[in-house]
Amino acid sequence: MSLEYFALSYFKEKKIRYYYEKPIITFPCPYCSSEAKMISTTTIWHCGECPEKGNLQTLITRPDPTEDTVYHPLKERKAIRQHVQRLSKKYGEDLSPLLERIDQLIEYHQNKEKTQV
Ligand SMILES: [Zn+2]
Repeated sequence: MSLEYFALSYFKEKKIRYYYEKPIITFPCPYCSSEAKMISTTTIWHCGECPEKGNLQTLITRPDPTEDTVYHPLKERKAIRQHVQRLSKKYGEDLSPLLERIDQLIEYHQNKEKTQV
């Protein structure tokens, strides 16, 4: 079985809220609760905020995983769209141009991120 499988099993079993965009698993750092990122194929992870890092083994040997959650951009995007659509219905105003502008903004930042990697 792959390391990816073990890593995802660990997060599920410990009920740690994570999200997975291959090959990166984003989860709350067990030390500071900030966003930590793991490469699923190696399980090597590091925190974006504090100096903590390690692999799946170092997570497993840590006794108390955090119950915090990380910001989930895809869920947030969906929630924003639903909210705007509700407002659109309520006020009878077509807000789809606004949603398109939000999408454009997101894509702009996604492309910017990709070029920085
Ligand atoms: Zn941390």
